[in-house]
Amino acid sequence: MATRARRLRPDWSWQHRAVCKGEDLVLFFGPDGERQPERDVRERKAKAICGGCPVRRECLDYALSRNEKYGFWAGLNEDERASERRRRMKAANRGQARMGVA
Ligand code: SF4
Repeated sequence: MATRARRLRPDWSWQHRAVCKGEDLVLFFGPDGERQPERDVRERKAKAICGGCPVRRECLDYALSRNEKYGFWAGLNEDERASERRRRMKAANRGQARMGVA
């Protein structure tokens, strides 16, 4: 039973290799009342950090699987993640249609 439970537990080890470790969280989540020009600057900085991160794929998969509504994950803001989620859903639906699963 313990082995089965361990196997089902998500693997968080990728977070140890995140280059944002130790960065100011405000850079990724923004302050309340942030205006668009400041948001653009902040997101450019966050995007630059994510661009050099070796666990970007894992981070994006995590954020999408948790349906993270806020913040900057894997180099994507909320709107960009919503687009990626829709893209993946369409791809999955196309795959199911090809396999005859409805
Ligand atoms: S991709 Fe960006 S937000 Fe995700 S772990 Fe790496 S640096 Fe952090």
